[in-house]
Amino acid sequence: MNNNFSLSHRKEEPEKGILYIVGTPIGNLNDISLRAINILKNVSLVACEDTRQTKKIMNKFNISNKLISFNKHNSSIKIPNIISDLKEGKSIALVSDAGVPGICDPGEDIAKSVRSEGLDIICIPGACAAVTALVSSGLPSSSFVFEGFLPRKEIDRAKILVEISKSEKTTIIYESPKRLKKLLKELFKYCGGDREIMVARELTKKFEEHVGNNINEVIDFFNSKDVIGEITIVLKGINKQRDLNFDKFDMKKDLNDLMNAGLSLSAASKYLAKKNGLKKSEIYNLN
Ligand code: SAM
Repeated sequence: MNNNFSLSHRKEEPEKGILYIVGTPIGNLNDISLRAINILKNVSLVACEDTRQTKKIMNKFNISNKLISFNKHNSSIKIPNIISDLKEGKSIALVSDAGVPGICDPGEDIAKSVRSEGLDIICIPGACAAVTALVSSGLPSSSFVFEGFLPRKEIDRAKILVEISKSEKTTIIYESPKRLKKLLKELFKYCGGDREIMVARELTKKFEEHVGNNINEVIDFFNSKDVIGEITIVLKGINKQRDLNFDKFDMKKDLNDLMNAGLSLSAASKYLAKKNGLKKSEIYNLN
């Protein structure tokens, strides 16, 4: 792998054999950068998640260039073609439907393959819903965990929710509007109603909305509403010194939550023991 490229004096024109990962707006098209427009105009081709979506941006900024589709269904077929194009000296831009490719969008696999072939990648930064929500939440941003979409399988979901409930770091979660109320109920169950939260809806768009301050208030707010639009959740971590009391009651609640989600007593005890640096028997005997 060649990591010795000097990036400091790169020309603004795309260079041969480079994969450009290009961030695009998450709603407001004016958030596109001048560099992004320039790269999209001048690369040999643009690989995009959905050509119809990308055409909207291309049309808005008078960009015409060759588009090919690149998504989770065809990536294993397309990656070798893209790599051989790069090796032939073409420059290729990768965009997703919105935001930064690779962040809950196709991008990670191709970046890994391109790097492992010794080829270079340059990211043209753009809007990302996670960061946009985090910095507008006013919650601690010096250290945070990005969970993306939580797993749907109950056991995996329960494990992550236990982890989130104990984390000292701010957690960012993506959720669809139709599952928001279910997730808020789960956060209430695992974290309690007082935990600080911000639900960011429709970031950068006309009806942008930030709903807080704690889980109780947010549940009340959305209770009587049909939730529509795109949603990102920012949840404050706990103050371990003050809030986290690893007493038996607390641990027993986690044990019950995991068992209710389908884990055996043994598996749940093993999981919690590992997480909390305790012996499995200490947890097992709580039951
Ligand atoms: N690659 C994107 C990024 O960089 O943020 C994320 C793509 S992911 C498939 C889409 C999810 O991101 C949405 O379901 C929502 O949770 C979040 N999201 C995207 N745009 C948003 C917006 N304008 N407001 C709030 N959340 C948004």
